Amino acid sequence: MRVTPSATVKVSNTAKAMMRQGIDVINLGIGEPDFTTPKMIADAAVQAIQSGKTSFYTPASGLPQLKEAIANRIKKDYGVVYPADQISVTSGAKMALFVLMQTLVDDGTEVLLPRPSWVSYKQQVSLAGGKPVLVETGADFKINTDTLDAAVSRNAKVLVINSPQNPTGTVYSKDELAVIGQWAVLHNITLIADDIYGKLVYNQNQFISLVQISDEIAASTVLVNGVSKAYSMTGWRIGYIAGAPELISRVNSILSHSTGNPATVSQYAAIAAFESDQSEVETMRQAFEERLNTIYPLVQQIPGFKLTAKPEGAFYLFPDVREAVKLAGVDSSGDLVDLLLDKAHVAVVDGDAFGMPGFLRISYAASLENLLTAVERMTKFMNQFV
Ligand code: PLP
Repeated sequence: MRVTPSATVKVSNTAKAMMRQGIDVINLGIGEPDFTTPKMIADAAVQAIQSGKTSFYTPASGLPQLKEAIANRIKKDYGVVYPADQISVTSGAKMALFVLMQTLVDDGTEVLLPRPSWVSYKQQVSLAGGKPVLVETGADFKINTDTLDAAVSRNAKVLVINSPQNPTGTVYSKDELAVIGQWAVLHNITLIADDIYGKLVYNQNQFISLVQISDEIAASTVLVNGVSKAYSMTGWRIGYIAGAPELISRVNSILSHSTGNPATVSQYAAIAAFESDQSEVETMRQAFEERLNTIYPLVQQIPGFKLTAKPEGAFYLFPDVREAVKLAGVDSSGDLVDLLLDKAHVAVVDGDAFGMPGFLRISYAASLENLLTAVERMTKFMNQFV
């Protein structure tokens, strides 16, 4: 089957290659926090290496101590109890989602995905033999029961909810999730709650997970999370799935024949992350909030860029650039992305990768200084057309 490379990884690789040639590119293409992993977490990994915890396989689904640490973290954060054996640790949340699609999707199974949504869901569904079905959203980038009704068929078995959402920063409220969750229960559809940005919510907005809404909805939901975004640990590759025993046992079988266990050292680091007092997470959250509040009004002023609702979480802006495409005299947002990289030396991602051409994704997981320079470059570039 045909599979296309991840657009976010591709643009970032191009930007990094340009940087290696000495070109001063600012990379706002990838969702990678720019902070170093908190020292206490790195120290736990060093300790694991120095005490020889490197030369053995752990269970494919992760160390029992790590599963306990995850179960405790979920209980503290959500007030929801999962026994440790209902948790599988994976090599990143990306692998968690991949293995879930392999588990839940048969040939022809339809998986409902909001449009726009993260680049890999669609490909992962196709790789599992399923059919991705996009659910339309309005100006607020949220699905609702009308758009779900329009998309659903009897082959639909799974709905993915990612709140806070990549690429829009949208956060669903408790009431909205209750309505969507009830709809899924009624249609016998399994919900995947991709909560990877759950710790990154700004300006008095509140995050709530699908698994917190009601017991009935939680029972229909598989929870996915990881350490990449909240703990600035993208390189460590630790994610997890929490769900029903039967599902977890199927997931574990697939893991045992594919990745085997995630790197043992990373698992020890993740235990430290989940057991820490979370103050470093809060420090990083505040830095993202300051960046959002600083650049949101500036991006709005770039000629041809239109931002509707202010993002509430994650670390992305998703402006409508259809006007900018016209101003620059090019055919598509993809062409505009190429121009911004070539001429303004700023890497961003085409909305097409998220199912929404005419838009761009700008990641603000970069220093304030780089963000301000990047916005200045994009403004200067667009100003030549007005
Ligand atoms: N889900 C979403 C919505 C994401 O944006 C990402 C990363 O960009 C992931 C999952 C995967 O995260 P990781 O594999 O780094 O844990």
